Amino acid sequence: MKQCSSIDDIRSEISALKKQGKTIAFVPTMGALHEGHLSLMRLAKEKADEVVVSIYVNPEQFGPNEDFEDYPRQLQDDLDACEQEGVSLVFTPNDKVMYGSGEKYFRIELDTLNEHMDGGSRPGFFEGIVLVVNKFFNIIEPDVAIFGQKDIQQFQILKQMVYEFNHNIELIAAPIARANDGLALSSRNAYLSDEERKIAPSLYRALQYVERQIKDGVMEPKLLLNHQQDELEAKGFKNDYLNVFSMKTMHPVKKLQPGNSYILAGAVYLGKTRLIDNIILDL
Ligand code: AMP
Repeated sequence: MKQCSSIDDIRSEISALKKQGKTIAFVPTMGALHEGHLSLMRLAKEKADEVVVSIYVNPEQFGPNEDFEDYPRQLQDDLDACEQEGVSLVFTPNDKVMYGSGEKYFRIELDTLNEHMDGGSRPGFFEGIVLVVNKFFNIIEPDVAIFGQKDIQQFQILKQMVYEFNHNIELIAAPIARANDGLALSSRNAYLSDEERKIAPSLYRALQYVERQIKDGVMEPKLLLNHQQDELEAKGFKNDYLNVFSMKTMHPVKKLQPGNSYILAGAVYLGKTRLIDNIILDL
């Protein structure tokens, strides 16, 4: 495994692999790797000859009051984990490599797909993600890129980006990796106290409860969702959103229709930690 920190270096490594006829699967991460990230790398290995992982905490996707400074950083452990997973190249740029130091005259603007869910709660978040992933795609030019269903709105927006900007890259979503008690794995789970960690799986349980009710025929789940939010508040969570969204538009849906795809998604705060989770509903 080779670690590259400059664009020239990663490009020349990748072009050498491509000259040998190898296909490339790319897994972008912000490090603090856990089993969820590793499951993406394993899927990447199934989809292409060589796996390239990036580890970069992208400042452009953090708001001014968010956890950019505190975000867990553990590069050596992450490199060891990548090596164990048989990753070929790890790209570890710094901010100067990614964004340079000169004036900027372009900015990304999104239309409607980021109005709700995490885009609604985190202004600038998806603009930052689209910017950095677009740059990574231009630098690495992979055949395939793997993202987690955990960040389903990210996946849908990036799929649209690939379509509208004609990136010749296949995007694949990997299932959500969970702890034994159902909590979706996340680098941010490291912020949870022991007490918070014990109640954290309640978010997924609330989603599962609503999923069962919908599958049993509740097609207007607003009251159900409100009730689950009240229960989460009573347990000590602060709600951001809990709702059903259209898979296509990423907008909330009041009345569900058979034959459509939806995302049942929630975001909550537990102390200072923001947790997100979702279940896909193909009705
Ligand atoms: P991050 O390092 O949090 O930016 O995540 C990097 C990639 O890993 C993204 O595509 C995430 O959706 C994915 N990911 C994060 N957590 C999980 C999880 N629990 N299961 C599957 N994929 C995940």
